[in-house]
Amino acid sequence: MEQISARSIFSPATGFIKRGGFDWSCNPYLGCTFGCRYCYAMFLPQNRRPKEEWGRWFQAKINAVELAKKQARKIAGEAVYLSSVTDPYLPAERSLELTRGILDAMIAHQPRLLVQTRGPLVVRDLDLLKRLRAVRVNISIPTDCEEVRKVFEPKAPPLEKRWEAIAKVRAAGIAVGVCVTPMLPLADSESFVKRVIAFDPEVLVTQDFHDSGGGFGADTGAAARLLLKESGWSDADYKKCVNALSRRRKVFEGEAGFFPPFIS
Ligand code: SF4
Repeated sequence: MEQISARSIFSPATGFIKRGGFDWSCNPYLGCTFGCRYCYAMFLPQNRRPKEEWGRWFQAKINAVELAKKQARKIAGEAVYLSSVTDPYLPAERSLELTRGILDAMIAHQPRLLVQTRGPLVVRDLDLLKRLRAVRVNISIPTDCEEVRKVFEPKAPPLEKRWEAIAKVRAAGIAVGVCVTPMLPLADSESFVKRVIAFDPEVLVTQDFHDSGGGFGADTGAAARLLLKESGWSDADYKKCVNALSRRRKVFEGEAGFFPPFIS
């Protein structure tokens, strides 16, 4: 882990985050030790390292909490995406508490916050999240198969831990999103659809693997697309699952699903 000093902790939104209606992004870390093989963030300028090293490094913005305390005034009432180029609940967050400190600093200014994570550690911060009037926690659950998860997300938390976490977030009265993004090969598509429908998240997002040529932030990268092809999972499999979901509830596809929570 490297420690860096940042100049700002809230950055003006760009790309699909801006198009989705966000004003700011917030990244307590750079790099990401979850190391997803399809991660779009490894291609972004903030993460200037050889792609082969993705997942093996991260930098902690060690002054993130101090900055948040000074700068949170500017995000009052505005839409914030936490986080766009890393995961705010990396294992290191357990001891560093940068995300937690940022959330604490936000409370006095009540931004509209979307937390985007694969990290069950988010439940540690429910006490703070509950104090925001407009908040949604999106958890990425892209497959039903641990073997597949280990291939595509080798160091990310197990899927059942994510389901447990999202259930706890919901039980705390906080809106939740399930992001099947990008959808990975499913062991039992029918059961997965039933489980997602039964859970009934406020927002459900799906995304296929695709090459956007850099036009859309969530490009999945050529190496990951090759892995997917080798797995035998096809566009038709993806569409079949999305159609099964769409027959039973609202499904957002791709960037259309990443929008801020509104104050009800
Ligand atoms: S958790 Fe998110 S930022 Fe981290 S490697 Fe996976 S997709 Fe990339």
